[in-house]
Amino acid sequence: TRRNLQRLRDVPSVTRDRVAVHLNANIELPTEAESVLQAGAEGIGLVRSEFMFMNRKTLPTEDEQAAALTTLVEQMRGRTVTIRTLDLGGEKLGDALDIKPGTNPSLGLRAVRLSLVRRDLLRTQFAAILRAAWHGPTRILIPMVCTIDELTTTKAVLAEVVADFRARGRPLPDPMPPVGVMIEVPAAALSADALARESDFFAIGTNDLTQYALAIDRTDEAVAHLYDPLHPAVLRLMHFTTGAAQAAGIPVSVCGEMAGDPRLTPLLIGLGLRDLSMAAIAIPAVKQRVRRISAGKAHALAHQALGQPDAARIAALLDHFNAGIT
Ligand code: PEP
Ligand code: MG
Repeated sequence: TRRNLQRLRDVPSVTRDRVAVHLNANIELPTEAESVLQAGAEGIGLVRSEFMFMNRKTLPTEDEQAAALTTLVEQMRGRTVTIRTLDLGGEKLGDALDIKPGTNPSLGLRAVRLSLVRRDLLRTQFAAILRAAWHGPTRILIPMVCTIDELTTTKAVLAEVVADFRARGRPLPDPMPPVGVMIEVPAAALSADALARESDFFAIGTNDLTQYALAIDRTDEAVAHLYDPLHPAVLRLMHFTTGAAQAAGIPVSVCGEMAGDPRLTPLLIGLGLRDLSMAAIAIPAVKQRVRRISAGKAHALAHQALGQPDAARIAALLDHFNAGIT
């Protein structure tokens, strides 16, 4: 009910054993701030900035991007906004960019790979983000990173833009936005320990992590029945990533669809995740679930789940655990 939702907005997101679980929102357009605040999100865990480039014939200018992002950061009034750089390609194509989809777009020139080929776009985007970051806490997130080199090269481009700001006497944000990577390719997950040394934070993208771990095109109806984030391989990749982030002392969040499914909340908390980012509309139900779970019991559940041979058994464990929640 509406009253119930309103009540949920104002209660803290903590487990029964008093563990705080931060609930953030994923958005596609900078104009969604109001719904994010309505839902009681702590901040924005993912701005899918590529949507600013889609369904239009021309590229957005630096001024246009800076204005939209500045409004967003201002509307969030001190809550952190995590802006992902362009994740075009794959299933998201931009008319304005005229990129030829390869024979297998999900494995082709997309996301950070595209940004490093079209550095003009990346520089413009960084400049816009730096201008917006002046108005509130902002983080930069790099999609589809597979190698350390992609991350260090991207950071070098950011350093060039910063140097250019200095040279022209343009104001820089203080502090500078942290730079993190999406962990959404198995290669990144399995080298999370190495990536953590160069990253300020991780955001696990379970949509693509599942797609790439299971070799299932997330847009192909013919194999949709095989797409299952509860496959033990996906959970192990998440487990390894979370452990690497904890060992390195950097924050780690989940921002794929898994984060917004209350059925999976005990599993994510059990894996040690304390920061979930989801569609704003999913926040109340996930918060309700968080408040009914003991993190200690969830930890035991996740430990058991990691030892299972298949997704069906993990689902059964999870359903049993959820049925026992009152
Ligand atoms: C993901 O891959 O899980 C993710 C959050 O990014 P997107 O869905 O935009 O690819
Ligand atoms: Mg993704």
